[in-house]
Amino acid sequence: MSEQPIIQLNDHKSIPQIGLGVWQTPNDTAVIAVEAALRNGYRHIDTAAIYGNEQGVGEGIRASGVAREQIYVTTKLWNDDQGFDSALRACETSLKKLGTDYVDLYLIHWPSPHRGLYLDSWKALVRLQEDGRARSIGVSNFGAEQLERIIGETGVKPVLNQVELHPRFQQRELREAHSRLGIATQSWSPLGQGQLLNDAVVGGIAAKHSKTPAQVLIRWHLDHNFIVIPKSVTPLRIAENFAVHDFRLDEDDRHQLDALDSADGRIGPDPNTATF
Ligand code: NAD
Repeated sequence: MSEQPIIQLNDHKSIPQIGLGVWQTPNDTAVIAVEAALRNGYRHIDTAAIYGNEQGVGEGIRASGVAREQIYVTTKLWNDDQGFDSALRACETSLKKLGTDYVDLYLIHWPSPHRGLYLDSWKALVRLQEDGRARSIGVSNFGAEQLERIIGETGVKPVLNQVELHPRFQQRELREAHSRLGIATQSWSPLGQGQLLNDAVVGGIAAKHSKTPAQVLIRWHLDHNFIVIPKSVTPLRIAENFAVHDFRLDEDDRHQLDALDSADGRIGPDPNTATF
């Protein structure tokens, strides 16, 4: 198996630092992408109930021949299922679709503050961890105050917060809160949904190292200690995105990429104003 960097989590478990993201991937494609990733050395898959492909992810895992306990599987509670009892039920549904009796990580997908249910949902995740249905629990798209609230009310810290993060949107303030609270940072849309692949700065650094823009971007996330889940359904690109361990960015590269941060660099929805 390829070299596999690991991040230690605050619940004494660990997570492979690179995973395969499978958003916008139908079931039949997910089978192929997940199998290709696992055959290429990936040991971490990031799905969600709302992606509608947990079944395909489960099939891909079984098709790969890699043992379940060697694979880190994340899924997420969708907003419509927030609340204590409904979150417990939603997790059971996800487990059934995945064909597994536990997930390695269960996340609240969005805080969805207008629903007023994320604290109840978090209490359900605490229960799911106690029951062994989720080995670790975390959140996604949470702000610092929301993190502090769920920790304050339950005494249980999310292991990570999965947020939009790429060189054009670096979440510096939120990352400081993560460091203060002992929560790992996981980057979604790490390639800026592909938009950063044509960036001239990224391209220049890629040419200098004889690497691809995607590899440079993934290396940037790794060097910042983020957990990164690039998405591709193309086996060659899936392999390319994992082949990032034979080069390092130098200080000048990192400086240039860090300088791409932009006030209007967000691509996805703002979690505080999203109405879904
Ligand atoms: P991404 O930043 O990973 O970019 C994916 C795009 O880049 C795709 O169009 C793909 O074709 C292209 N690409 C990937 N590798 C390439 C390569 N080597 N060469 C050329 N093109 C390449 O975008 P994403 O899918 O938005 O984010 C990754 C994952 O993050 C998702 O699949 C999902 O698992 C997760 N995510 C989570 C949330 C959340 O709210 N928690 C939101 C969005 C995404």
